[in-house]
Amino acid sequence: MKILEGKTLSASVLAETKSAAKKFEEIKSRKPSLKIINYYDNSASSVYMNLKIKKAAEIGIDAVEIKPPESGGKKEFLKILKNLAGDSLTDAIMVERPLPPGFDDWEFWKNMPSDKDPDCLSADNNAKLYLSKTYAEIEKGSFFSPCTALAAIKLAQYHGFSFSGKKAVVVGRSAVVGRPLAHMLTSLDATVTLCHSKTSDLRYYLKNADYIFLAIGKAKWLKKDMIGENQVVIDIGTNFDENGKMCGDADFEEIKQTAAAASPVPGGVGPVTLALLLKSSVTAAQKEGK
Ligand code: NAP
Repeated sequence: MKILEGKTLSASVLAETKSAAKKFEEIKSRKPSLKIINYYDNSASSVYMNLKIKKAAEIGIDAVEIKPPESGGKKEFLKILKNLAGDSLTDAIMVERPLPPGFDDWEFWKNMPSDKDPDCLSADNNAKLYLSKTYAEIEKGSFFSPCTALAAIKLAQYHGFSFSGKKAVVVGRSAVVGRPLAHMLTSLDATVTLCHSKTSDLRYYLKNADYIFLAIGKAKWLKKDMIGENQVVIDIGTNFDENGKMCGDADFEEIKQTAAAASPVPGGVGPVTLALLLKSSVTAAQKEGK
């Protein structure tokens, strides 16, 4: 089975981003700046926080974590967002999920400035994404696309896979991963089935797919008896197993017996996502008017 490792692609995106960040600093006499709002220390995405800040520093981006107290509620969150939106020294804003219970996502999305939004959280960037029909429009860079979905596609493409005319199953329908991924795969002319916890006969869809994208957040959920032969599995899940070891949504040791290719966790989609986030943060800094 071919292992779809993400470190090489990530390194090449980071090298390109480092040189763009250096040019920005030479012109502006300051580094591009990324602010990361993070409520919870132990969420799956925030376990990457130290790595994000370290990688950002290595390539010349000034990344700072902002940790609002949960007790400040939505009002405090929106205040922080508006301050960052109006701050000329903040180029990019990232918000780690989950947010505290009761937060209205729409309230957040409409207050997110689209030109400082490297991960496509704003209403404006989402509208542009879903109004794009072709992948070329999405890739052109006139708006920001969601980094994780983009990373999953780019990782498969980097390893020589293409989607036109193929059957792709995406498991997980979140607004930040599964849905945009399904839309992007459709723009690449795949025929996409978007599955979720209420999908009946999920195994039928899994067994008949050419590509299986997993974004459900359940450790080692996909077993070899759930899939067909010679499929490509792209695992976006970031979980921890019973021994505290990071793992994906697929049971890698099992599926490698039947899959044609699969991305590992760690070392697959994750490093590519991080590299694309940093790249988009530098792009945000480069936008005119800053
Ligand atoms: P989420 O918001 O919790 O959504 C999970 C989705 O999975 C939901 O649509 C849910 O269905 C579906 N689901 C849950 N259990 C299922 C089951 N047994 N069968 C079928 N569908 C099931 O999660 P998310 O934010 O999209 O994240 C998904 C995973 O990706 C997490 O592990 C997260 O840590 C990881 N992630 C990784 C990266 C990266 O760079 N690698 C970045 C972001 C997220 P319902 O809608 O019906 O509830």
